Amino acid sequence: MRVIICGGGVIGACTAYFLRRHGVDVVVVERTEVAAAASGKAGGFLARDWCAGTPLDALARRSFALHAQLSGQIAGDWGYRPMTAYSGFVASDGDPRRDAPCALGWLANGVVVAQRIGTTETTAIVHPRKFTSAVMNAALAQGAELRVGRVTSIVRDADGTTTKGVEIDGNVIEADAVVIAMGPWSLLAAQWMTLPAVYGQRSPSIVYETGTNVPADALFLEYEGDDGAVSIEVFPRADGSTHITALSDIAPLPIDPAAVTPDTGAIARLQAMSERLSPLFRPEKIIAQQACFRPVTQDGLPLIGRVPRSDGLYVATGHNVWGILNAPATGEALAQLIAEGAARDVDLSPFDPARLEPLDPSLLQAH
Ligand SMILES: Cc1cc2nc3c(=O)[nH]c(=O)nc-3n(C[C@H](O)[C@H](O)[C@H](O)COP(=O)(O)OP(=O)(O)OC[C@H]3O[C@@H](n4cnc5c(N)ncnc54)[C@H](O)[C@@H]3O)c2cc1C
Repeated sequence: MRVIICGGGVIGACTAYFLRRHGVDVVVVERTEVAAAASGKAGGFLARDWCAGTPLDALARRSFALHAQLSGQIAGDWGYRPMTAYSGFVASDGDPRRDAPCALGWLANGVVVAQRIGTTETTAIVHPRKFTSAVMNAALAQGAELRVGRVTSIVRDADGTTTKGVEIDGNVIEADAVVIAMGPWSLLAAQWMTLPAVYGQRSPSIVYETGTNVPADALFLEYEGDDGAVSIEVFPRADGSTHITALSDIAPLPIDPAAVTPDTGAIARLQAMSERLSPLFRPEKIIAQQACFRPVTQDGLPLIGRVPRSDGLYVATGHNVWGILNAPATGEALAQLIAEGAARDVDLSPFDPARLEPLDPSLLQAH
């Protein structure tokens, strides 16, 4: 059996890895480079039970456990480390706590840590680009193939029901099954198959070189700015970089993933807020100013499973803010579904693509 995976983000990489563990022939087709989009620019924060009480709970718990296992099974260092997580706020001007020292010594005066919300048992982090690349490399070492090219359509048999492969820049590659894992660009696949809409939500981020002495403390802070309250997330990583993100916005998704750029105003605001958080966040310490689009569905849950009315077609996208966390269990479950006919470790029914109305393809052609 040969499976083509469209998209070399974290979801495509994990699906390739677990399919190879089943002995399935795998070709990954990536338009730009592995982890070119959100999977290379995310925070990489992982939480075991922050999806409790939602349909994502079992997927998140399984994935959290798999992240710990994979760090011992796959070659490479992607900075997997358990961490503590805190919530808090930045005291505003006039607040008596404005000049009070912070309980966490690496943060500036006036940063108030209110509560511990994760422990080293329940929260962790990876460097997402290094994780995605290591998992892809493990799949390649086990015989998967990576091709750089743009998937432009699906090839079907004469009666149009059974998938025969994909077209890449005009050339056909044959396969028995195809997985759409193109993140927010999975929207384009709604031209080729019956698929619900997937949207892209943009977030800017700044990465600072802060050194490896910064403790493994994830921060979720409220910041009262001139134009209202902003939630800001700070993730120190094992390689000495710290990822800071806030200020999501709605922006048109460029057709080319390489053309994603941050809004300069949002980056300037994020930089000003970051400088207020710690003396470590100095302009000369900036490694990257970037943006990426999270894939989001209409009901906020991912699409994982068979594409309705198309034999041999599967989709895995829409992981929103938890794509790095939930990639391993998604890849494992999808590989089981494709190779064995059913997922064993996680119930995929809450993520069945058939639960949502398909997108009208004429809406896409109009653009
Ligand atoms: C600022 C930010 C912070 C985040 N922080 C976290 C976090 O801390 N923890 C967490 O769990 N999640 C986090 N996320 C979410 C996470 O990054 C995403 O859910 C996840 O990366 C989505 O992975 P993906 O593989 O579905 O998509 P992507 O990473 O978007 O990958 C899709 C790939 O498909 C390729 N592609 C597109 N079109 C084609 C085509 N026609 N042919 C071939 N290839 C194509 C693209 O080049 C791209 O490489 C964050 C996201 C953002 C934006």
